[in-house]
Amino acid sequence: MEKLILDGKRVSQTVREQLTTQVQGLKTRGITPCLATILVGNDPSSETYVRMKGNACKKVGIESRRIHLPKETTTEELLDTIKGLNEDGAVHGILLQHPVPSHIDERKAFETIAIEKDVDGVTSAGYGQTALGFGKYPSCTPAAIMKILDFYELPIEGKHAVVVGRSPILGKPVSALLLNRNATVTTCHSRTENLADIVKLADIVVAAVGKPEFIKGDWIKKGAVVLDAGYNKGNIGDIDYEACYENASAITPVPGGVGPVTISMLLKHTVEAAALTKA
Ligand code: NAP
Repeated sequence: MEKLILDGKRVSQTVREQLTTQVQGLKTRGITPCLATILVGNDPSSETYVRMKGNACKKVGIESRRIHLPKETTTEELLDTIKGLNEDGAVHGILLQHPVPSHIDERKAFETIAIEKDVDGVTSAGYGQTALGFGKYPSCTPAAIMKILDFYELPIEGKHAVVVGRSPILGKPVSALLLNRNATVTTCHSRTENLADIVKLADIVVAAVGKPEFIKGDWIKKGAVVLDAGYNKGNIGDIDYEACYENASAITPVPGGVGPVTISMLLKHTVEAAALTKA
């Protein structure tokens, strides 16, 4: 059986080339797409993620405005910052890096982001629109998973997709996107019984668990497509890659799979948001 390694870097590069051209076009209309990132506190991983996103912006010509708030920031102060960015016509997308410090009401902060600037798909309105099939900016990792499937022209309609994980930013929205594309979707979580038996039925497996090498090789049906959204310490995904590779017909590696495409989807959404504004 021919094996396809789903190369996220390749997908990402193709998307970023298209974006660079689009950004040049917008600039001739007097519009410079701008993504504002808000980081609260000094969590080293979050700092790295924000830096990576800012650098990726610059490479395609998007302006990156970084707002770094102290860890003592209150919910009200954070909401004021978000409201200011909502009103700032030069800002097209807002990303609040999460998790925020535990004393902050994260959900309230997400909900304050204006829907037209919610390029990371974190508001409940954005999620609802995604679920109903007309959302502009789905959450970026689910969008990346769909992009990879489409880039490699892997069929979705009629296939049984099993998503392991039901978080608001990943498992739930990717289940909705797959359902909207006419997959038959089973969403699993920590209370699911007989998980291995359910995964064994899948034509498409999406791992979004947050546990290193959680999905085992003998859970994978021969010929299944396996997408690993997981990213754990030491560059380890949520699937046991070596073992799952055996039965899969197509599989994403970690690193170099879903991760790079996720950042590209954030850039894409920002450019799309900018394109909807007037200079
Ligand atoms: P999360 O919020 O912790 O959600 C994990 C989900 O997995 C929950 O729905 C949980 O079920 C489920 N789960 C936990 N233990 C389970 C078990 N034993 N059996 C079945 N389901 C189980 O995590 P997340 O934010 O969705 O992230 C998931 C993974 O994706 C992490 O590795 C994260 O680092 C990665 N991630 C990657 C990107 C990227 O750009 N590649 C972006 C975001 C996240 P319950 O709901 O029942 O608790």
